[in-house]
Amino acid sequence: MHRRIIAPGALAAATLLLAIPASAATHSPGAPGIGDPYYPDYGNGGYDVSHYDLRLTYQPETDQLSGTATISARTTQDLSRFNLDFLLDVSEVRVNGAKAEFTTARQHELVVTPKTPLAKDTPMTVVVRYSGVPSSKSAYGFTAWQRTPDGGVAAGEPESAWWWFPSNDHPLDKATYDVSVAVPDGTQAISNGTLQSTSSRLGWTRWNWRENKPQATYLATLALGKFDITTGTSESGVPVINAYSKDLGDNDGAARASVERTGEILDWLTGYLGPYPFSSAGGYVPNTKAGYALETQSRVYYSPRQFANGSNTSVVVHELAHQWYGDSVSVKGWKDIWLNEGFARYAQWLWSEHEGEGTAQQLADYVYASYPADDPFWTVKPGDPGPDKQFHAAVYDRGALAVQALRNEIGDEAFFTLLKGWPRQHAYGNASVADFQKYAEQISGKPLAALFDTWLFQPSKPPAPAARAASLAKDPAPAQPKSWKKIQATNDVHTH
Ligand SMILES: [Zn+2]
Repeated sequence: MHRRIIAPGALAAATLLLAIPASAATHSPGAPGIGDPYYPDYGNGGYDVSHYDLRLTYQPETDQLSGTATISARTTQDLSRFNLDFLLDVSEVRVNGAKAEFTTARQHELVVTPKTPLAKDTPMTVVVRYSGVPSSKSAYGFTAWQRTPDGGVAAGEPESAWWWFPSNDHPLDKATYDVSVAVPDGTQAISNGTLQSTSSRLGWTRWNWRENKPQATYLATLALGKFDITTGTSESGVPVINAYSKDLGDNDGAARASVERTGEILDWLTGYLGPYPFSSAGGYVPNTKAGYALETQSRVYYSPRQFANGSNTSVVVHELAHQWYGDSVSVKGWKDIWLNEGFARYAQWLWSEHEGEGTAQQLADYVYASYPADDPFWTVKPGDPGPDKQFHAAVYDRGALAVQALRNEIGDEAFFTLLKGWPRQHAYGNASVADFQKYAEQISGKPLAALFDTWLFQPSKPPAPAARAASLAKDPAPAQPKSWKKIQATNDVHTH
């Protein structure tokens, strides 16, 4: 055994090192983005949020929103400074009780410098007091806040949080929510999760909503206006809360004929995707003009335009399928969008089959035959489409085609085990396309790298799989399935 004698000089140096106090010298600022190459400034580094408590007041006449956000987080590094993503006007920020300095930077960054630097892995409570008119704010030249004749709505992807609460705005940092909003009596405030209570005082009604399962920031929604609210329970026992603007005009009947089937469709989806992951379900249809729908967690946002041609259960299927594929299991990075849209679109194909309007295979054959090899459709790679093509129709249609190709490759038994197993495997978390491939290989026992590469990552039309080539040769222009037009009408799903 050999014992080393420490030289006096070395010992002194070591002591000196230890004597340096935890200070700005060892603490550094959190990154202004969480590290997503599609959106370098989205989200932030240095901390992880566990809960948002938003206590707000909204005046529909002026679109004035004010209140306090209390954010419970934990540092992930020795932190001298950190960012939140936010656009409204901030009057005060406190970190662990002490007033903090703050300023704004770039398009949507609120830069907060706590009075004392924070050590890694310690709890942090951030209180932000703010107010502003969301409809007057924009970033990158757009706004996600939709002003309506009787209020306003926050629903957008990937952006929507900046207009109503400060956050770490990226799906990687999921958290639970309490959203409490006071509005004038006669106006309703709709948000995610369950309605815990309402109370009225001096002409104002406070609505207290709770989402008790982790939720990505873009899936948090707020709608303020005059709504008719319906409540019920699905046959399997999931509480359903829906809301309809009182001025949907001619779209009112079709909106209700679609969204009131939420419980039925939810129960049908559990047969394919497993138990419903959240404590409540439902949708709302405000009097907005934008055309899209969005899978806001447990309370789907539907534009009235989705119902302009009559009832549309296909869009309800799409948004409810996202509750498993997208909401409970969220993307790790925005390039993983196929995990959301490919599967939500595929659920529409399964619904088409259920309704007798064309099988999933017929829809796949139709998509395949509809676009010649030189069509730009095939240049979009659903597995990594790029930020400008994140919501391109090919992510949906070629994405669902890839799901069908996978099904044909591994067989129905493994495929449906996989479809149901995945949401359980990553419940309330995040996952990537690579994680999915690995899981599919594990469930099926087959190497799938070539299949994933061909259908998701090549900027060209894949050759017809052998099993389909024969039938496609016989029928090179398959008839348009009955459900096709309705499914395409749900394509305007996410836009600014
Ligand atoms: Zn979608």
